[in-house]
Amino acid sequence: MTGSITLTMIKPYAVQNGYTGPILAKINEAGFRIIAMKYLQMTLQQAKDFYKVHEGQNFYPRLVEFMSSGPVVAAILEKKNAVQDYRKLIGATDPLKAEEGTLRKLFGASIEKNAVHGSDSDENANVEADFFFSKLERFQLMD
Ligand code: GDP
Repeated sequence: MTGSITLTMIKPYAVQNGYTGPILAKINEAGFRIIAMKYLQMTLQQAKDFYKVHEGQNFYPRLVEFMSSGPVVAAILEKKNAVQDYRKLIGATDPLKAEEGTLRKLFGASIEKNAVHGSDSDENANVEADFFFSKLERFQLMD
């Protein structure tokens, strides 16, 4: 059965600290299917484009600088209720406020270095998936 999608990024801090494997394992254990994945470093302009909705916020310049400071792992995850279920798995934006066992609690260091990104709506999930992946880079896995 196919479900809906969400877009995740493992952020530079988490990649640099060797958390890519442990985070991907948690994603699999939680029942998400990885239907597309790549390891890349965004340019400053790409990070600005990705986070365009936050343009004008005081944290925006630091956010885009940080997100382009090193490689990230971007992936499209599929599951029934993917957006909401993944937001539950990652926890609150601020790791200090995130529930025990969530990815941001386990692997995040601060509100900026909060380990992972997760889409906040189905509409944004599709926009964000298209930002990183073409149709040829997505794979529908068999049940
Ligand atoms: P998310 O959907 O939980 O990732 O949160 P938002 O979409 O509101 O913000 C995007 C990202 O910007 C977050 O994941 C944080 O890394 C960063 N961010 C959000 N709010 C703040 C803030 O108040 N201060 C700082 N330094 N970073 C923030």
